Amino acid sequence: MPRSLSFRAREATRARTSWYEAARHRTIRRCIGSRNDRSKHVKYVSTRGMAPPLSFDATLLSGLASDGGLYLPGSYPRLSEAAIADLAGRPYAHVADTIVSPFVAGAIAPTALTAMIDAAYEAFRHKAVAPLVQIDSNLFVLELFHGPTLAFKDLAMQLLARMIDHALAAKGEHATIIGATSGDTGAAAIEAFAGLPRVDVFILYPHGRVSEVQRRQMTTVEAANIHTIAIEGTFDDAQASVKALFADARLCADLRLCGVNSINIARILAQIVYYFTSATALGAPRRDVSFTVPTGNFGDIFAGWIAKRMGLPVERFVIATNANDILQRTLATGCYELAAVSATQSPSMDIQVSSNFERLLFEAYDRDAGAITRLMAELGKSRSFVIGQSALASIRAEFDAFRTDEAETTREIARTWREARYIADPHTAVAISAARRAQAKRPATPQIVLGTAHPAKFPDAIERAIGQRPALPEPLAALHDKAERIAILPNDLPGIERFIRERARTGSRAATTAKVAS
Ligand SMILES: *Cc1c(COP(=O)(O)O)cnc(C)c1O
Repeated sequence: MPRSLSFRAREATRARTSWYEAARHRTIRRCIGSRNDRSKHVKYVSTRGMAPPLSFDATLLSGLASDGGLYLPGSYPRLSEAAIADLAGRPYAHVADTIVSPFVAGAIAPTALTAMIDAAYEAFRHKAVAPLVQIDSNLFVLELFHGPTLAFKDLAMQLLARMIDHALAAKGEHATIIGATSGDTGAAAIEAFAGLPRVDVFILYPHGRVSEVQRRQMTTVEAANIHTIAIEGTFDDAQASVKALFADARLCADLRLCGVNSINIARILAQIVYYFTSATALGAPRRDVSFTVPTGNFGDIFAGWIAKRMGLPVERFVIATNANDILQRTLATGCYELAAVSATQSPSMDIQVSSNFERLLFEAYDRDAGAITRLMAELGKSRSFVIGQSALASIRAEFDAFRTDEAETTREIARTWREARYIADPHTAVAISAARRAQAKRPATPQIVLGTAHPAKFPDAIERAIGQRPALPEPLAALHDKAERIAILPNDLPGIERFIRERARTGSRAATTAKVAS
């Protein structure tokens, strides 16, 4: 199937501004003012304070800041109460336009942004893109798994791919994306970047250590710019190889390496949108809501925190962790302390370093980059740091955290099925369990649990809990009949580099580096 062709044809159709799009732009201008006003263009600053502030497109193509920090908007645009009320019941793409446009003003023209947003979400299997389902009194699941790879990462990755392609087209350049994955990130990136003419994607995963659905999602994509590499080793081996490739300045310059993990701020900006669609559906801004988020790298929940800064009334953010509970311990004790990673049924949350937590710390320290640099140096030295009293108090004023272990996760999948006839995937179940505990304290506030994966991605965990395997939704059911294309390589850096150099369509002398992790 000539995917690149259909992609371009769709973009061309979308580029024509309809009456409806013009109306959308009028609403956006009312909300945020004219996007041609240069003084309103958001600059991006590093949490470590030493890297120069960048424009949106420069941030988009860089990933990690040169001082090792993460980029954040220099300021957050604020929506009036009337503007937020006006979002209620609007199509997802309309809300996405309103929320994302102030962050990209000056870098992406309004009509181009509209076209990208429409194309990014038109292939979702649910017309609402991110529908809400009620599973108990005042308890709702926000389903973020109706995209092409059945996990919430599609919502950001589909838009990110189009933004990167747009930025490269403007410069007449070409980029190479290299990433290591334990499953979801790789599949979402492959699906989003397949067929793009200016980007080559190389995804490394541990041979024999991802689920069959996850592997087939990565290996059955036919586009010529996609390269899936099974490394004979563990996820840590794949990750170490990717880090070594990014540390190679020559390679970065030759191939213009670009990162697509949640270090990339554009991914987080795209995730702000569904906090607005779901909260307004339940009565915001007249009524507060709370969110419970299955958390790993802290990107998703941090997008919610930005929504609150933009004016959305949120009572509490609940961090839900599995047995890898570094964030739950941090909120309880004030000490951020690394521990060994244990493998769970919710593998996308099996992390040791929660990268985006640095962004919240930067805000909790009133943007004191010196303080963040000291904390991160301490982490490098002693594998832990202690958060200052006032910063900790400001985090606790907005966040709660609960841990759910393996047995409780299985019990929660069973309970939700028994009581609500709803099948929650293990990541979502970890969050439902946390939400129930948070709700016991504040039963009057609607609790919105972010449903981050489709249960069919984790059939073994579901079968253990309820005795049946969920069916893969159409058209993914055909996944098992498609031919696979995989290169199996030994865990050997020079060999991996040679493989990539031989296949990347290098187009630029400019160097951009970023760290990529799953
Ligand atoms: C990536 C992922 C998460 C964790 O999201 P973060 O933004 O890293 O906190 C949770 N659930 C699923 C299914 C994921 O793929």
